[in-house]
Amino acid sequence: MSRTALITGVNGQDGSYLSELLIEKGYHVHGMVRRTSQFNRGRIEEVRTHAETKGLTFELHYGNMGDSTSLNRVISRCKPDEIYNLAAQSHVAVSFDEPEHTTEVNATGVLRLLEITHHNFPDCRIYQACSSDLYGDVTDGPISEQTPFRPLSPYAISKLYAYWTVHNFREAHGMHASNGIMFNHESPRRGENFVTRKITYSLARIRAGLQETLSLGNLDSQRDWGFARDYVEAMWLMLQQDRPDDYVIASGETHSVREFVERAAMIAGFDLAWDGEGTETRGIDRNSSRTVVDIDARFYRPIDSNIGPGDASKAQAQLGWKPRASFQELVELMMQADLDSIS
Ligand code: GDP
Repeated sequence: MSRTALITGVNGQDGSYLSELLIEKGYHVHGMVRRTSQFNRGRIEEVRTHAETKGLTFELHYGNMGDSTSLNRVISRCKPDEIYNLAAQSHVAVSFDEPEHTTEVNATGVLRLLEITHHNFPDCRIYQACSSDLYGDVTDGPISEQTPFRPLSPYAISKLYAYWTVHNFREAHGMHASNGIMFNHESPRRGENFVTRKITYSLARIRAGLQETLSLGNLDSQRDWGFARDYVEAMWLMLQQDRPDDYVIASGETHSVREFVERAAMIAGFDLAWDGEGTETRGIDRNSSRTVVDIDARFYRPIDSNIGPGDASKAQAQLGWKPRASFQELVELMMQADLDSIS
């Protein structure tokens, strides 16, 4: 018999890839979406058709992590075997501007979800999306499940609360709830305010004559970037284990924002040369002598950190998971997708 999954944040990057994966695996999929004034279902438009051709459900429900009544209604209607909690205020910089909202959704929202599930569907398995931001600025070697947490933003603090709440429900109530401590994962579906997609989207627009320059903040910040499609597979694998657990999911390599720009610019056909330092840095296209990249202090954060590399050896040993796409392939597929769609 087909299993039923509920994905919160289904219309986000990860939610869309996970919906596709679960339908491929024969699940009925329910998605929770927030009501917003703008239509934001672009990423999941095709999924329903795909589900229907396989005789499966793909149904969306309005709900909000900040509203217990809506969560209760959605969960009771779907009667899920598995819940993937991907709903979040997911932007670190925004969390400094909206710390209470971030906490309400990312922290208290998880408590609500666990309470409701524990009381009504105690056998339901839960995946909680945690983040490598939990670790803050770690400089001495690869980060594993054993590395101490040191959150440096309201976003990271909210995710740390979620992490411990999942532990608490696991230990106090025996729930099958797992944390995926995911390092940055990107794709052509990544929101345009995250740096990777901002880079590929802007360079494609500059190529097409729709934008003058790409303005960035800290070019030397480093991240462990992987491909989101690979990472959602790890979420599913966690819920198929006999026991719940916590897993670092990462590529194992770090690269700087500067390196990402250089690679993407090359694929987009720019011959980029750097000039100047700090906020005076410019990326100049040697072909046209035009400034393609500049620095805007608005994109610096109150505190920033290098994050990574992550050590996903536990996930590899226990889940049999490892990333498929390399950094080079990731930049290539993101840049190509934006060049193809903006021309
Ligand atoms: P995060 O790891 O969740 O914060 O993912 P982001 O993609 O938002 O940011 C990754 C890194 O890129 C951070 O260290 C940012 O400071 C840095 N960065 C540099 N310029 C920008 C920019 O213009 N926008 C964003 N979002 N990040 C930038």
